[in-house]
Order: sequence, then C-alpha cells, then structure tokens
Amino acid sequence: MTLDIDRFNYNWIGGQKVQLPETLDVRNPADSSVVGRVPNAGADETAQAVDAAHSAFGTWSRMIPVERAQFLHAWADNVLQRKDELAQLLSLEQGKPVSEAAGELAASVEFLRWYAEEGRRVYGEVIPPSRVGQRMLVLRQPVGVVGLITPWNFPAAMVLRKMSPALAAGCTVVLKPAKQTPLIAIALVECLVETGISAGVVNLVTGDAAPISDTLLAHPSVRKISFTGSTEVGKSVMRRAADTVKKLSLELGGNAPAIVFPDADLDQAAAAILDNKFENCGQVCNGINVVYAHQAVADSLVQRLAEGAKRMVVGPGTTPGVQMGPLIDENALNKVASLVSDAVAKGAVVHTGGHRLTAYRGGSFYAPTVLSGVTRAMAIAHEEVFGPVCPVLTFTSEAEVLHSSNDTPYGLAAYVFTRDIGRVYRVAEGLEVGMVAVNGTSLSFPQAPFGGIKESGQGREGGHHGIEDYLETKFVSLTLTEGEEES
Ligand code: NAP
Repeated sequence: MTLDIDRFNYNWIGGQKVQLPETLDVRNPADSSVVGRVPNAGADETAQAVDAAHSAFGTWSRMIPVERAQFLHAWADNVLQRKDELAQLLSLEQGKPVSEAAGELAASVEFLRWYAEEGRRVYGEVIPPSRVGQRMLVLRQPVGVVGLITPWNFPAAMVLRKMSPALAAGCTVVLKPAKQTPLIAIALVECLVETGISAGVVNLVTGDAAPISDTLLAHPSVRKISFTGSTEVGKSVMRRAADTVKKLSLELGGNAPAIVFPDADLDQAAAAILDNKFENCGQVCNGINVVYAHQAVADSLVQRLAEGAKRMVVGPGTTPGVQMGPLIDENALNKVASLVSDAVAKGAVVHTGGHRLTAYRGGSFYAPTVLSGVTRAMAIAHEEVFGPVCPVLTFTSEAEVLHSSNDTPYGLAAYVFTRDIGRVYRVAEGLEVGMVAVNGTSLSFPQAPFGGIKESGQGREGGHHGIEDYLETKFVSLTLTEGEEES
C-alpha cells in the first residue's frame, strides 16, 4: 500500500478539518520510513475541541438512545466497508501483521454493535419511599464531555472500545491518540463523520502529549478522562485530574502470570501461551509476562514453547504470511534487550532468540525468545517486558505460586492451566487481578468487563460495567402535591 503522507494530515474539531503549519511524522517501525504526517496541535486547539464537545453535548445527550445507536451501527458498517484499507494502514504505522490488524478491527466493531444496543438498556431505579406521598427515583445521565487518551499497541481497538460506550451513554468526546499511531484514529473518526453525526460530538487532536493532556485535565468542562497507557503516566493523569475532581477510567500496565499446573494439558497450554505471548510482538497489556511452570512439567513445557517460538515467521507486517512484526521503536527494543541481558547475566538459559533481528534495515525486530532458569531476582520477572520474550520460572506448590503471582504492584490479568476444578476456584479467587482466563487466554469481549486492580488501573471497558463508567447517578426525591382523586 502506498499512502499519500498528507492523506490524514488533519484534526477534527467542531465538525471542521483543521490543518496546522507544524506537523509530526509517523513512521513505519518495520523500516523507519515516514508513512504519514499529522498536525502538532497544542493547548489552543485542545481547548477549541473541548468547547465544541461542550456545545454539542446538550443535543447529543438528549437524543433518544435508539437514534444514537443508529450512528454507532452506521459507523460499524463504514469501518467494515473499508476494513482492508484500514488493516493495511494500521499495520503500516504500528507494525503488526495485516491479518492481526484485520482481527483487531473486526473485534472492535463488535464493541460498536454491542454498545449501540447497551445504550438502550441504561435503566434508572424507583426506590420505595419513606413517607406517604413521596416518590424516589434514580436517574442515570451521561457525565458530559470526556477526554479519551489512547496508546499505540491496539490503536483501533482502544479508540473504538472507549468511544462506543461514551457515545452510547450520550457523552461527547475529545480523542487524543498516541503519537506513533494517529493515522488509524483519524481514519476511524473519518468513518464516524461519514455517518452524518453532528458537529462537535466527536473531536480529535494529535500532537505532543503534555499540552493536550494538561488542557484536557485542567478544563472544567471535561468531566471524565479515560486513559489507557503506562502506569507511570496513569498516575500523573490521576494527580492532575484531582484539581477538578474528574471521573477516571485507567487501563494501565500489567505483569500477567501464566501458571501451568502438573495436571494441565501441556499441548493446549503451550499453544495458548505462544498465541498470547507473540501476539502484537508481545506488546499486549494483558499479555503473559512470566510463565510459572510446575517443576514436574517445566522441561516439557519449555521444549514445546521453544519449538513454537522457532517456527514463528517474523517480518514486516504488510508482508503476506508474516506472524510477528517489529517492536514499536528502538526504545522498546532496547528495553527488551536489556531485560534479556540482565536475565542471562544472572543465569537464565536462552532456548531460542535472545537477540535483535537485523535482516530488515531500519526495523526494530527482536527474535521470538524463550528463557528458562528465570528467577525472581531477575528484572524480567517483575517488570513489564512488552516484547516477544517468554521467561519461564518454576514452582512446587499452589501456595508458593499464588504468593509469587501476587507479589507485584500490578493486577491486570492471569492465566491458569489445570484440569482440577477445585484448584480453578481456589486460584482464580486467590489471584489479585481484574481478569483470570482458565485453560485459554481470551479476555477481551464486548459483553465482559476488561480491566485491572492495584496499579493496573480502575474502571472497566466492556459489558454493562463499561457504560456505567460514562454515567452519573442522580437521585430525585419527589413529594407529591395534594390533589383530589378523579372519579
Ligand atoms: P504511555 O506512554 O503511557 O502513552 C499512552 C498515551 O498517553 C499516549 O496517547 C501518550 O501520548 C499519552 N501520554 C504520554 N504522556 C502523557 C502525559 N504526561 N499525560 C497524559 N497522556 C500522556 O504508554 P505507552 O508506552 O504508549 O503504552 C504502553 C502501555 O500501555 C503499557 O504499559 C501497557 O500495558 C499499557 N496498556 C494497558 C492497557 C490496558 O487495558 N490495561 C491496554 C493497552 C496498553 P504520546 O504517544 O503522544 O506520548
């Protein structure tokens, strides 16, 4: 795919395309070539976007849910109509294989469909009164203007997963995508604008994070921020949101363990771990960070993992047949390489990989890697790896592995492989995480709550929980006036 680098060189503010003299380059991580240019918007453009969203809020929030649903369904139709072009675009700027990009788009469209309908099921309550002549009602109302800040690893999913409940609830939005992957966000907003949605309901600004986020966080009209990204930046968002007491949803970093008990189906466990570990080149927030294999099955599991990792086809995401693309940039590659070096220096054994791949000039490719002999003294056991490295530790008892798995500030996801139903309950209940997958690794569904606890964040995306995060609760206490009953 050859792309006109100025094809998406605009922001969307108050129903207008906005171009700016200062722009930022967007590069393909497979070869560092420039694939696009976007405006470098700042505080002024962000404030204009917030004002536009604020002006549009009255009309959009009063619209009946079924009308809002029609826009979300039309948006889904438009995305599906352009899915091949969008998958190429996503792969070009992010690096993942086109097939994975297409899967991301298809799965994200399901969020649009699901929230289009969930918006019609936002019910209030009627509460029994305390006195004769009194009525008590609970209304659910949209929070107002929301600021959405999204990361680069799932740049389509994060946009659609946040926008769908926000718009379905009746909120208006200002979106700030990650600087590495703004093109797909602009293309998706283009698909929404084509539905004829009113000016100001959706606004998008691209540029340096500091002035944009400072403006969103300080602006009194922005009533909620939904942020997905690193724990470090998430904490800073939380601090800055305090001044105007904004509602927050935070989807932050993780350190997910995969725990393989001796009674597990090892072929099933290895296949699931490989799928999860090398998806998106390991740059998945709920991706497996460490594998805890029971001592009795560790060697067999490591052998299966190494064989699978060796078979991975690595290359530019736009090359047909490629299963894993590059890391997002050199910084990401250097971090992965330094975690592997630290582990090897402290005694870890490399079964495959353990080095960068130099076949593609200018690309940040790292070989699929499997390490055994990993211990908790190594940084890789407790820092988020965010790369295609599978470190295997061993354990001997359920209590020990639960303790190790919970001994982290993170609490996003965990994976458990066992055929013992009693153990499934004990371990799932004992793990300090927001999500547990048993004998598989699927966790993201439109109808289910996705999110973490501890320093992995707060709030949920998906399910009825996801739309509740965009709603306020208002209590109405009503005293009926005296009147004669009609005969
Ligand atoms: P990041 O640096 O925190 O960036 C995420 C977003 O925040 C980007 O749009 C970024 O903009 C923006 N940002 C940067 N500095 C900011 C600031 N000071 N204030 C407000 N926003 C700011 O994270 P990342 O490295 O791109 O993403 C990877 C992280 O996201 C990983 O830790 C991963 O686990 C986490 N993640 C979590 C989930 C989840 O659901 N829990 C899902 C996906 C990813 P710029 O790009 O312009 O800097």
